[in-house]
Amino acid sequence: MSEGPRATESAGTVLVVDDDPDTRRLVVRWLNRASIRCLEAADGATALEMVRADAHGIDLVILDVMMPGMGGLDVLKTMQADEALKLVPVILLSAHADDEAAVVTSASLGAVDHLSKPFSGPVLVAKTLRGVQHRKIERELEDKLADAEKRARIDPLTQLGNRQLFDERLREEIGFARRHRAPLCLAMLDLDHFKAVNDTYGHEVGDTALKHFARLLSATVRQGDAAFRYGGEEFVVLLRSSDAASARAAMDRLRTALDVLPLKLPDGEMRRIRFSAGIAVADEKNDFRSDDLVARADAALYRAKDGGRSRDEIAPG
Ligand code: GH3
Ligand code: MG
Ligand code: MG
Repeated sequence: MSEGPRATESAGTVLVVDDDPDTRRLVVRWLNRASIRCLEAADGATALEMVRADAHGIDLVILDVMMPGMGGLDVLKTMQADEALKLVPVILLSAHADDEAAVVTSASLGAVDHLSKPFSGPVLVAKTLRGVQHRKIERELEDKLADAEKRARIDPLTQLGNRQLFDERLREEIGFARRHRAPLCLAMLDLDHFKAVNDTYGHEVGDTALKHFARLLSATVRQGDAAFRYGGEEFVVLLRSSDAASARAAMDRLRTALDVLPLKLPDGEMRRIRFSAGIAVADEKNDFRSDDLVARADAALYRAKDGGRSRDEIAPG
């Protein structure tokens, strides 16, 4: 165990890059004392390789300017030009940091700070901790943003993707279908007489029914196929490399699952959930036309409703 803060709780990970082993050792010793974990590189090319390999695991780079081969400024320029690396903060370490021009150059190239050799230990630690802290806050914000973006595409009730995610996936799946000349099937599903469930048992039971349906729907569709909540009690499924017949088979499987596992109502009664579906295909025959795929499935769905419900209709190509 080292003195000071607990050694197990690292304040961050810093890559120390210097061709001079004595400078590296000194930097590492100061940073370790402040509970900062250190990685080391003796040249610019190795440093770049290390950040590329683990841009998320390295919180900051301390970079010597003067090194044989690739110098610190070139490493910095390369990192700044790379989307994945430009957010890793760099502190430049140079013998000429007091030289105004050198400071201006390093700052304009994107270094967050600079230190001059011989450096002061406490200043090194303070500047490093500040850089690491900034990076941590930035990363927390990035994570929160990514999380929020993900949540914005998930329906909170059923945990299925929502319409926005569906729109994105539809574009991707159409791209896949065209590249592989493989048919893409879209099934639009709407629960039958669902309003009656709400009216008879209340909205909460209605919600439970939607969750139950969504669970069986995702369990039924093949892996790689995706089910979404299109809105209200309407769902949509994308079936990759499927023709209308296999989409119809998937709807049959879902009906069987709904028969086997009816919804248990609060009064103990079991209620079978029924649905109607409209199926539309984008394939060679219609030149993978996708702009009206949803509209065609929707029109077929309405014919299924008109034709008596609890059935499927296939849209004409
Ligand atoms: P049809 O067979 O013609 O589709 O009849 P339906 O009663 O299912 O159709 P309608 O469009 O008249 O009613 C849909 C119902 O779905 C009305 C609405 O309150 C209910 N609904 C939509 N979203 C939700 C939800 O999130 N929770 C609950 N509980 N009900 C919902
Ligand atoms: Mg309905
Ligand atoms: Mg509806």
